[in-house]
Amino acid sequence: MKFNTKVIHAGIQPDPTTGAIMTPIYQTSTYVQAAPGDHKGYEYARTQNPTRTVLEANLAALENGADAICFASGLAALDAILKLLKPGDEVIATNDLYGGSYRLMTKIFGNYGIHFHFTSFDNIADLDALSNEKTKMIWIETPTNPMLNIIDIQKVANWAKSKSILVCVDNTFASPYLQTPLDLGADIVLHSATKYLGGHSDVIHGAVIVKDKAIGDQLHFIQNASGAVPGPQDCFLVLRGIKTLHIRVQRACENAMYIAEKLASHPKVAKVYFPGFENHPNHEVAKKQMKMFGGMVSFDLHDNTEEAARKVLTGTHYFSLAESLGGVESLIGHPASMTHASIPKEDRLKVGLTDSLIRLSVGIEDVEDLWDDLNKALDLV
Ligand SMILES: *Cc1c(COP(=O)(O)O)cnc(C)c1O
Repeated sequence: MKFNTKVIHAGIQPDPTTGAIMTPIYQTSTYVQAAPGDHKGYEYARTQNPTRTVLEANLAALENGADAICFASGLAALDAILKLLKPGDEVIATNDLYGGSYRLMTKIFGNYGIHFHFTSFDNIADLDALSNEKTKMIWIETPTNPMLNIIDIQKVANWAKSKSILVCVDNTFASPYLQTPLDLGADIVLHSATKYLGGHSDVIHGAVIVKDKAIGDQLHFIQNASGAVPGPQDCFLVLRGIKTLHIRVQRACENAMYIAEKLASHPKVAKVYFPGFENHPNHEVAKKQMKMFGGMVSFDLHDNTEEAARKVLTGTHYFSLAESLGGVESLIGHPASMTHASIPKEDRLKVGLTDSLIRLSVGIEDVEDLWDDLNKALDLV
């Protein structure tokens, strides 16, 4: 089955009891048993729910994985993955990371004896220097947030292969339409389904997809033990969102490319971060591992003050000032004070995350309306 068919059909059958073509929302906490232990595969809804089961089967197919586990949020999914580790274990992670992931790693799991190293992944030799026999996990996000660097997943996976280090990829920014990390050698994929998978800014949801069924079983165990499950209505919304994933992401990528090019030639704009540009330092890697270059664009202003950025951030009409990304509507954000406020300033500046950096999640509106909107806001600087 090809991807554009999978989004609509993989793992999805008409409801066996009624023929309902849309997967029903099984709003129930428990399931009646004919006799103790004699049930239809469902006992209690923390452990399993049929709406969730269908979504998990669909997600496993989209990422070419053996199993998928859905969670109440992307961070609940990361929390479960990190619980595969034990005190003393070490993790090497992307230094330019989603702020909430950084916070969960350093402020919560750091207290339980797990040690995190943050690096750019520009040079594989850096991994040799940061790793030792206690290194158990690699955590990468690509494209990175908000600097939109691209990490070569295959190269990292090849490095980790002989060392029995789990390679995990946060695939939220790309979505499985653009890249499937398990095919490139990764072991675990994470999604904040809140973003492109859900796609309509109406749900918080997370998912993990694994290459190896045994790791999937461990994660199902951790989930049932810890309890961060999604509700059936949320699973329904993500299932519905996924049905148009391919069309939405394709349009968002086309619009983002147009906006990035316009920004690059605007006199008030100092720098545009977009992997679709030939002069982007990782453009060749992006071309190799992604189908298109994504719907995210970051840019910096010549006037590199927070005040200048605020004029643009409050001057747009179609680009709404909000956290999050990946919805049908365009969003504009200020990483330094919003999504990345929990990262210390000196660490932010090291990766180029200045006070005047602006991040766009380009939606699927008419692209000329979008550029007109942004252009008018830039005039305010
Ligand atoms: C939003 C996001 C998360 C966290 O997901 P939630 O659903 O908000 O918990 C993790 N990683 C990335 C890249 C994100 O954008």
